[in-house]
Amino acid sequence: KPIVLSGCQPSGQLSIGNYIGALRQWVKMQDTHDCRFMLVDLHAITVRQDPAQLRSATLDGLALYMACGLDPQKSVIFVQSHVPEHAQLAWVLNCYTQMGELNRMTQFKDKSDRHANNINAGLYTYPALMAADILLYQANEVPVGNDQKQHLELARDVATRFNNLYGDVFTIPDPFIPEVGARVMSLQDPNKKMSKSDDNENNFIGLLEDPKKIEKKLKRAVTDSDEQARIYFNPEEKPGVSNLLSIMSAATGQPIAELVPSFEGKMYGHLKKETAEAVVAMLEPIQQRYHEYRNNLDYLNQVMAAGATAASEHAAATLRKVYDVIGFVPRP
Ligand code: ATP
Ligand code: MG
Repeated sequence: KPIVLSGCQPSGQLSIGNYIGALRQWVKMQDTHDCRFMLVDLHAITVRQDPAQLRSATLDGLALYMACGLDPQKSVIFVQSHVPEHAQLAWVLNCYTQMGELNRMTQFKDKSDRHANNINAGLYTYPALMAADILLYQANEVPVGNDQKQHLELARDVATRFNNLYGDVFTIPDPFIPEVGARVMSLQDPNKKMSKSDDNENNFIGLLEDPKKIEKKLKRAVTDSDEQARIYFNPEEKPGVSNLLSIMSAATGQPIAELVPSFEGKMYGHLKKETAEAVVAMLEPIQQRYHEYRNNLDYLNQVMAAGATAASEHAAATLRKVYDVIGFVPRP
């Protein structure tokens, strides 16, 4: 089976963007792939986190992973900081990643604009850590939203560079980007992607939000002001309306081409209301299961412990090989 690796940052509550763009694909891949899914707390601290919040967001995320359908019997589920090889390989890869390459990363530009008071070196070298995450497990496929495509390309470049120097150490990973929902956009600013760490909570919908709040946020979502309020799909001309159509399509499974005619002659309010209903229906079973998992700390601990052990084994083997080829003397 091809090896898969992916993860979310516990940098806030997981959003419908994370679910539609990533988690939902992961659930499907569990039967056909050898999967590893993590909560990437090392990545989360590239932006300042409140310790108590980070801790609970990590456990919330773990419970949500399982509520969304990740199964620890099928997949290795773990917390990144529990497997020290991530940080260790990241350091090595930092030394094989060029500043020029990192300068081109758009996420760094976006996040350093948003967090101008804390543009730290970790935020800048985030892609080297992400490359380490992937390469440690010799992953063949990395399911991510469109926003991570550039980082994945960098991981491939670094791995290729390393292999050219030292022989076949790393598997070159392929991106796996879903066709539908690869990029859920912000509700208030539909020209940028929805992010769980957005300062304005009206921009995103969290997986744990209650129906009233979801309805309210969607009601307030920015639509497009043109002469006739027609509902059709065109992300350039009508980013707001197109985003709602995409969300609704992802939530109901109905293709956009079928949804559009059903809104003929209707108003934006109808679209918002129906989108809210679809999102609420999508989240209801997830929220129910979430509470069962979140209240069972013993079980969460068990999953984390088993996941870390399984992940470590694979990661340690890769790191050993890397240390060897670059010329580190093994610890006697
Ligand atoms: P942050 O704002 O802290 O960066 P985020 O919402 O971008 O959080 P990440 O943890 O960075 O979430 O990403 C987790 C996964 O979700 C990645 O695979 C990413 O591609 C995917 N993802 C994130 N945002 C979206 C989105 N708006 N649409 C589709 N997929 C997304
Ligand atoms: Mg992100």
